Amino acid sequence: MCVHAETCGQQMALEHNGDVYSCDHYVEPGYLLGNIKEKRLLDLVALPQQRKFGLDKRDTLTQFCRDCDVRVGCNGGCPKDRLATSPYGEPGQHYLCPGYQSLFRHVREPMQAMVSLLRQDRAPAELMAAAGGWLPRMPDSAEALDLLLTVATPRKVQRDGIRCHGLRYISLTLAAFVGEAVTVRYDPRDLAEIRVFHRGAFLCRAVSPEIAAVSISLIGMPGFDRQLARYPQLYSRVGFAHQYRPLDPEDIPDVLEHYWQQLGLPFDPTLADEAATTVTRITGGNFRLIERLMSQVGRVLEINQLDTITPEVVEAARQTLLVGGQITAK
Ligand code: SF4
Ligand code: SF4
Repeated sequence: MCVHAETCGQQMALEHNGDVYSCDHYVEPGYLLGNIKEKRLLDLVALPQQRKFGLDKRDTLTQFCRDCDVRVGCNGGCPKDRLATSPYGEPGQHYLCPGYQSLFRHVREPMQAMVSLLRQDRAPAELMAAAGGWLPRMPDSAEALDLLLTVATPRKVQRDGIRCHGLRYISLTLAAFVGEAVTVRYDPRDLAEIRVFHRGAFLCRAVSPEIAAVSISLIGMPGFDRQLARYPQLYSRVGFAHQYRPLDPEDIPDVLEHYWQQLGLPFDPTLADEAATTVTRITGGNFRLIERLMSQVGRVLEINQLDTITPEVVEAARQTLLVGGQITAK
């Protein structure tokens, strides 16, 4: 990357009319090299003026940069952005210098280890696996990691708490901070609680009484939790989503025998097999659907004063289902 190379000058800018400039950060009259309709691009790159432009990146470094322990990685950044004053009082310091120093000091150790591996014709990726080798720096605790994953937003403490996402969050601690500006951090997947920061320091946790006590478990509703994800206030209350496997077709006659008994009907294995085929076709083995279907079977039998569960009865029951009645197996 040119900005961290020792010198630059090979990244010129070509305008629509053929004019060539030293760099796209320097499309200014003083950096016009020529026009490709008149000169070859190769000749323009080799112009003394352009070579000086590239070397100046190194030759105009501040003394502070020359003394810097990470200069070999940073090289002072792009000259166009050297707008600050160095700690030595020199003009021409890159305005991102403190950030560059943090970055290059942070990566220095693993970079040196990777260089060492490359010199031995080994893959830099070995670094991660090397016993006792360098490990990425992690937050001090799971709590700190959690915090990194939250969303931050400014708010003002009101008399009745903090308003956020149309919800009200309260905490006794907030009473002393009414009218104060705070930052709240929250996990978009759980809006029951927010963390409140005042002047950069953690102040308290605040809860939304409207939803904190509510929790939903989704059982046997495959994929429904994903649909709820569009509604954070509901989704954040999903405790767990448990998905049941569909029943195997050979198990369905046994399940139906149980319903036969519930309905007080004599169990007929032949009829049960036929009905089971229809039930399997309609429900795909979803036991929640089987339960709803069989309760409708009972109604159909009662209304029509029948005492035998036939495939026709099961089919008639399917027609009455509000949800799932449209399901038919292929
Ligand atoms: S002036 Fe900046 S952007 Fe242009 S080539 Fe040099 S380092 Fe790169
Ligand atoms: S880190 Fe800062 S001081 Fe060091 S070389 Fe880069 S810009 Fe200069």
